[in-house]
Amino acid sequence: NKYAIITDSKVKRLYGNKFLRELNKNGIEAEIFHFPDGEKSKNIETIHKLCEEIVNKNFDRKSAIIALGGGVPGDIAGFVASIYMRGIPYIQIPTTLLAMVDSSVGGKTGVDLDSGKNLIGAFKQPKAVFIDINFLETLAKKQIRNGLAEIIKYGVIKDEKLFTKIEQNLTKILQLEEKITTEIIKKSVEIKTEVVEKDEEEQGLRMILNYGHTYGHAIEKISNYSLLHGYAISIGMVLVNKIAVDNNLLSKEEAERVKKLLKEAKLPTTIIKKPNKNDLMSDKKRIGDKINFILPTKIGEVTIKQISCQ
Ligand code: NAD
Ligand code: ZN
Repeated sequence: NKYAIITDSKVKRLYGNKFLRELNKNGIEAEIFHFPDGEKSKNIETIHKLCEEIVNKNFDRKSAIIALGGGVPGDIAGFVASIYMRGIPYIQIPTTLLAMVDSSVGGKTGVDLDSGKNLIGAFKQPKAVFIDINFLETLAKKQIRNGLAEIIKYGVIKDEKLFTKIEQNLTKILQLEEKITTEIIKKSVEIKTEVVEKDEEEQGLRMILNYGHTYGHAIEKISNYSLLHGYAISIGMVLVNKIAVDNNLLSKEEAERVKKLLKEAKLPTTIIKKPNKNDLMSDKKRIGDKINFILPTKIGEVTIKQISCQ
């Protein structure tokens, strides 16, 4: 019967109010709910506040939610949809490159605790994901690079052709040239969808999406989250590639090729102090005192290996 648009302060100003007017003009009943932009809002208080506001506006089990924004509004709105009146449907409209190629697809929703990121949440698939690359025009270049790191990740884990395409068209991609941008976003979504459809709740295969993330998460934490996620996983991919080379799984040349592309995309590839065992052990994905590493065997293919790290 009506839609609750959940967004952040910045996206509301840029797109939310206009979107709401368009829906209303077309006879669709909707209201907008927002919170201050940024990861700091991704907590249980925001969820509580949004639910109260939505109840007060008489949204019921026949209503639906629209997540409008980057990964933060996406994760928050999805989580609200998973618990509001025991769950109502929702739609994702991602407005950052990272949300388009990653967070809007796959149904992971949730918020952070003081003890760590994404520690509470639910699997809840959106009914639809609408991706419109025009949103990217107002996005800072830093945020484009942030999303591009995940796209490069998809190339390394699953698709050598995608990787080569990025190598050959990097400038056009960074300028958001429509054809190539659409193409690489579509490919990324296809890869993520294929993996998630086979292993929705991450019992095995879905783990490959965490390539570069074991180190990446530790680096984000050490930087006190001043480093963007994509920047941290860029360093993480380089570090984990070294493990793959040291274990004779990946050739030095291929590892160099990945590093070169990340560098050309102006993503960081080195860190002064490599995360130690303790930093890595706080990772949610550990198994006993061993850690599952996603190691490339060549560009376009990875293997999962348990390694006890020194
Ligand atoms: P974000 O949502 O905070 O967006 C980054 C910034 O860009 C914000 O300030 C936002 O207001 C602004 N913004 C959004 N769209 C804009 C636009 N079109 N123009 C100008 N500014 C715009 O962050 P993000 O990088 O999109 O997402 C990061 C979050 O996603 C993290 O919380 C992470 O845990 C989560 N995530 C979830 C999944 C998943 O599977 N659920 C996967 C990856 C990441
Ligand atoms: Zn990621």
